[in-house]
Order: sequence, then C-alpha cells, then structure tokens
Amino acid sequence: MAEFPTSPDVVVIGAGAAGLGAGRKLMELGASFCILEAAHRVGGRAYTEELAPNVPFDLGCHWMHTASRNPFVELADEAGFTYRKGRFESNLRFSDDWSHSRDEEACEDYYERSSKALQDVHAADLDLSVADAIERDGPWTSAYDYWISLSTSHDPDQVSATDMCNYVDTDEDWPVKEGYGTLVAGLATGLPVRLNSAVTEIDSSQQDIRITTAKGTLNAKTVIITVSTGILEGGDIRFTPELPDWKRAAISDLPLGCHNRICLAFDRNVFGDDHPLDVTLLSSESEPMAFHISPFGFNYVSAVTGGRFADWLERAGPEASADLAKENLQKAFGSSITEHMVRHLVTAWRGDPWIRGAYSAARPGAAHQRARLAEPIDDRLFFAGEATSQQVYATAHGAYLSGLKAAEAAHTAATSRS
Ligand SMILES: Cc1cc2nc3c(=O)[nH]c(=O)nc-3n(C[C@H](O)[C@H](O)[C@H](O)COP(=O)(O)OP(=O)(O)OC[C@H]3O[C@@H](n4cnc5c(N)ncnc54)[C@H](O)[C@@H]3O)c2cc1C
Repeated sequence: MAEFPTSPDVVVIGAGAAGLGAGRKLMELGASFCILEAAHRVGGRAYTEELAPNVPFDLGCHWMHTASRNPFVELADEAGFTYRKGRFESNLRFSDDWSHSRDEEACEDYYERSSKALQDVHAADLDLSVADAIERDGPWTSAYDYWISLSTSHDPDQVSATDMCNYVDTDEDWPVKEGYGTLVAGLATGLPVRLNSAVTEIDSSQQDIRITTAKGTLNAKTVIITVSTGILEGGDIRFTPELPDWKRAAISDLPLGCHNRICLAFDRNVFGDDHPLDVTLLSSESEPMAFHISPFGFNYVSAVTGGRFADWLERAGPEASADLAKENLQKAFGSSITEHMVRHLVTAWRGDPWIRGAYSAARPGAAHQRARLAEPIDDRLFFAGEATSQQVYATAHGAYLSGLKAAEAAHTAATSRS
C-alpha cells in the first residue's frame, strides 16, 4: 500500500466499496489523502473467504447487479475475473401438499400485480409501506415477503414502496466466480489505507478538521464519511459540533436490515451435472428459503435469509442456521443429499461491529432521505456509501459510484481552501 500522509487534504473514513472508490478517484486527481479503516481488512460488506484453496465464497455481495451500468464489470474484465451473465431467477419447490393446486404462473401473476401496486402508490405520491401497498394474505404472500426481505433486508411493513420503485433494475445480475469481495478489495492496491484505525471523533469546530482514531489524530480540510448508517446511528463516531437534526433524521430513516448467507459445503458433487442453479423452497411449516446450488461448479450450496427472520436466526447462532438450511435442503432434494456435507459457514452481518446489518432501506414515507444523507455539511463533511445512492442503493456499485462523486466534491472543496 502507498505511503501514508499525516496531514492530508482529504481523509476518507471506511475502506468499503465507497471508500475505495473515493480513494481511486482522489489518486486520479493527484490529491493528498488517506483512508482510515476500522477493521483488519478492506472491503467492508464486500468480503470473499476461501472455503478451501481456490474455492471462494462471498459472505457479502456476490452479484454485479444492473450489470450493463455497473462499473465493476469493466474492472472485472481488466482484472481477468470470470462472471456469468444472466438474471436472478429461482425455481419454486414445494415441500408439502398445500401448494399442489397452485402453479408457478399464479405466483408470477401475484408478483406482477404487486409490482404494479407499488408503482401505482408511487405514481400517486403516496409513500406507503410495501405491505400497505399490495394485496395481502394470498397463497403467494409469504413467498413475496421473503423476496422483499432478501432485496431490502427488511420485512414489507418496514420498507417504503417509493424507495423500491426508485431502484433502477435492468434484470442483469451477474455472479463473480473469484468473488465480488476479492474484486472490490483489489481496488485498495496502491492506495494509502490504514487498517485497525477506527475513527472515534470528527471535530470540525476549527479551521482544520481533527479526526481522532485508535492510532492517533490527523488534520484534514475535508472528510468523506462512508461508514454504514448502522454505524452512524450507533454513535460510534462522535461529531463536534453534533450533526444537524436533518442529517440525523436521514440516518435514522435509512436503517440497515438483516440478510445472511449460510454455506453448506460438500466433499463431492452431490447434485449431479443437471441441477437447477437456484431453488426456493416454500413450505407451510416454515419460512421460505432460497438456495444457490453449486455455483460455478463449486461443491457448496448457499442459502439466504432476510429481514426479521434473519435477525432471529442470527441470534439463534450459526449451528441453528446451518441445521435449518440442512433440513430445508433435505426437504427439497431428499434426506441423503447432506450425507457428504463436510462443513458450514454462516454470516452474521448484524453482529459485525463495523457494519451492524446488511443494507439500507428507506422507512415508509422516507424515500427522499437518501438525497439528504448524500448532502455535504458546510462543504467540509461529505457523505458516501450505499445508503446515499438513490437508484442503486444496497449495492456495491452504488456505493462505489457514490465514492467517486464525493471524492470529486471533497477534493474541489479542499483545494479551494488551500
Ligand atoms: C449478505 C449480503 C449480500 C449482499 N449481496 C450483494 C450483491 O449480491 N450485490 C451487490 O451489489 N451488493 C450486495 N450487498 C450490498 C453491498 O455489499 C453493500 O451495499 C456495499 O458493499 C456497501 O459498501 P459501502 O462502502 O457503502 O459500506 P461498507 O462496505 O460498510 O464500508 C464501510 C467501511 O467503514 C468501516 N468502518 C466502520 N466504522 C468505522 C470507523 N469508526 N472508522 C473507520 N472505518 C469504519 C467498515 O469496517 C467498512 O469497511 C450485499 C450485502 C450483504 C451484507
């Protein structure tokens, strides 16, 4: 990593996709800057672990969403990464009789009616919750609720219908073989990043901004804050003077929900060569659960949970999560399917002390708060990160693009003060 300046013009707080995007832009602009990261690693919610040598598993982001507009596609090409083009589609599977008289077409109809209901509410300028906007209590409601809990990390009563409609979806979700986390972390190459340096205070009451970290104090002209709304809301960083009410309201209206991934690994190919890639198991007895099966031919399955249920399961612990995924997998593929399971890995994003959840969703009535969160304060404190994106929030590329934008503005403001 590059040399670390002690009195830079710009300090970036956080080395996730937004902070690293900001860093790359600042480097391109020839700015004097550094990045402070609380954790022992870069990437934040972009994090790939190796289950075994050359078997990567993404604990956080995995799909390059809205791929034709996603700058990570070009970065993946430059770095020689492999990805699969397509859209995210899951086959429904039913574990018991209640659904036999229904078919997938009826489910699709319900999804379409629900999407239209959200658009109608949005067009009428009524920022209701998703739950209040759609038809409830039909046979497909629990499947739809589950889908909402994955895409927003919240339950439908907690999410603004307008926020959902503002998201620009191109139906291109391209998974990265070597790991999206590895791709994002690669952005740190050559950047001045200091790890294990949690920022505890930002004091902008004097001409220079004073930033206190676990490893000492720095002064800067401008600061780019990219930490999650979970961290901002938790009060880990003290602001002197305090953040204004409008900014605190924006933080509080864009909370992080919960979304976790449960990986079950096998010592051989138990699904054969002709298996569906994505299956969602629906059951009248338990919450739905989607499985991503043997991605890129790797011998593992990942299951996903979202919303309040994900929070509950995270608290129940990794063994309970793995047991539930195993049980569901057996319901979908027969009891012998887990005979050759060798290990599991379960994420716990709510419990991550430097993140505190999965991604942001606007509360009902609060879709406008993303723009407020993105607004700088006095042209000295700049804000970036997934929650500040209005059209591709909750994504790695939304975070990255917000970092590029904040970096230009923070650099211009810093140089005009020199
Ligand atoms: C399970 C899961 C699956 C996901 N799937 C996808 C997907 O498939 N595709 C997609 O595009 N997106 C996905 N996302 C969302 C995506 O990962 C995030 O939107 C994005 O990575 C957020 O980047 P960020 O820079 O805004 O925030 P972060 O990644 O949270 O970065 C902020 C950084 O700030 C650091 N920090 C915190 N406090 C301090 C402090 N006091 N001082 C200094 N540093 C601090 C943190 O350690 C962190 O590194 C997923 C997320 C999760 C959790």
